[in-house]
Amino acid sequence: MDGKPVKKSFDQWNVRPNLSDYDTTCASFSWESILNEIDGLPDDTGINIAYEAVVRHAVGRLGNHLAIRWLGKNGTIQDYSYQNLHSQSNQFANVLRKLNVTKGDRVFVLAGRIPELYIAALGTLKNASVFCPLFSAFGPEPIRQRLNKGDARVLVTTQKLYTQKVSDVRKSLPELKHILLADAGEDADEGVLSLPKQMANASDRFAIPQTDPEDMALLHFTSGTTGMPKGAIHVHKAVLTHYMTGKYVLDFHPGDIFWCTADPGWVTGTSYGIIAPLTHGITSIIDEADFDAERWFRILEEQKVNIWYTAPTALRRLMRMEIEPLRQYNLRSLRIIHSVGEPLNPEVVKWGQQTLGLPIHDNWWQTETGGIMIANYASMDIRPGSMGRPLPGIEAAIVKRTNKNSVKIADKPGVEGDLALKTGWPSMFRGYLHDEERYKKCFADGWYITGDLAKRDADGYFWFVGRADDIIKTSGHMVGPFEVESVLMEHPAVAEAGVIGVPDPLIGEIVKAFVCLKPGIAQDEKLRPDIMGFARKKLGSAVAPKQIDFVNNLPKTRSGKIMRRLLKARELGLPEGDISTLESDS
Ligand code: AMP
Repeated sequence: MDGKPVKKSFDQWNVRPNLSDYDTTCASFSWESILNEIDGLPDDTGINIAYEAVVRHAVGRLGNHLAIRWLGKNGTIQDYSYQNLHSQSNQFANVLRKLNVTKGDRVFVLAGRIPELYIAALGTLKNASVFCPLFSAFGPEPIRQRLNKGDARVLVTTQKLYTQKVSDVRKSLPELKHILLADAGEDADEGVLSLPKQMANASDRFAIPQTDPEDMALLHFTSGTTGMPKGAIHVHKAVLTHYMTGKYVLDFHPGDIFWCTADPGWVTGTSYGIIAPLTHGITSIIDEADFDAERWFRILEEQKVNIWYTAPTALRRLMRMEIEPLRQYNLRSLRIIHSVGEPLNPEVVKWGQQTLGLPIHDNWWQTETGGIMIANYASMDIRPGSMGRPLPGIEAAIVKRTNKNSVKIADKPGVEGDLALKTGWPSMFRGYLHDEERYKKCFADGWYITGDLAKRDADGYFWFVGRADDIIKTSGHMVGPFEVESVLMEHPAVAEAGVIGVPDPLIGEIVKAFVCLKPGIAQDEKLRPDIMGFARKKLGSAVAPKQIDFVNNLPKTRSGKIMRRLLKARELGLPEGDISTLESDS
């Protein structure tokens, strides 16, 4: 725990941080007070995320305020006021209603950052249906898996993504009744419809039905180590966390311009790319294009971004460029930079201070927590390398499981153990869809065990140590080794595969596979690209292994599980640790 604090001063801004005194705010905090800051549905009919995000501003004094500015790849700009977002999401909700899609039905969206995605997300929530985003760089297999496991009823996508990734697997998804193509002028068949045509025929008036705060609102898939992806269920009440973290971590103030660079296929792209800024009635910038350093600095300058939420891989990329941002760009509007998703190296925090004139605030959370749980705050000095301190209303601890149902809390600082959160915050996941057992295993003694290993220092700052499982984080995206191994084993030459993450200075980890071939198959050099190409086609390039080694055997436990931990230790030349359960080895 070496990071020297980075001292900060807020004197240059004419806004004071919302969380000006951490200890006092934590001591007096209650979720009831946050409940009082949102509106709730009229006539006490519940809480609906889309109402808090859009309707209350659209019908109030922010109706004409810019909610979303969309920057197209090719230079086009589309502006949506709160009133525009309101009417268009009403139209989408009416499209769903006409298709008989109702409360609890799952509406998936497979698309890049296109305006229709945001309208579909909000319209789905208004209809009390469940919004389920899919990463558009997935290949057909991860898409099929998730649509199937999530009981997809509707899929919103584009013509290209449909043809490339969905049309072949559609037959195996009988529950998927309606596919809405965002860019098709005409319907393709009875089940594949033109979204613009449907929208044109839909009314822009819609009354949100009664929504229980505990009704399912969002389904986010995340990878597992031992099985296929898990669908983490979030409810409408999660909006309290979205709003509260927007206030205390991202420090939203009226009139702010916010840019979250996360892909909407992942939880950050929904919680902070859509919901949190809208609940505060501020303006969100959405850029359709992929990472491009010059373009990003231009956006920060031209759009006068005040708050920027991004990720370590992107920041490390920027760090390597020969750009002097402060000399080449006017970044005077930028007030706070936040980062999430992977460990943020102390050098990146310092680089921010030197080259952008601002430190970078690390924060920590995960799909299951629904919102930021631990953060470095605007008003506090940053400890480079630390994830920060828990949010008001959030209790975090380092624990060790003593058995299946109980934990021992580490009371001394500096002890490494499982990072755990006291259960009960509003955006805590309410289950893994169709996986009650897996859900239960995450809890002990009233604590949610996050799957991360961490330490706490004497001042209450948390420091990330690593994952307690074999999950891989590559470019900020979770990859489940089991999912990759399963696809590799479908290749006719492959008998078995073990998949690990190998540390990489730029993208965090690289997906690497160890492959045993079937008897009689030679390890020739043509086979390697063939297997890689096969995996890429099925899984998509973001998930498929970038490296493959052929091996004669994989280390396994006596019960036959591949010991990925051992594969990794051997790959990295680290001590092998406890190998008492190792069955046989070469
Ligand atoms: P996801 O559920 O895909 O959002 O990934 C969550 C996981 O990403 C966490 O459990 C951590 O392993 C990792 N992660 C997220 N934020 C941080 C951070 N600030 N520092 C280190 N790891 C992080």
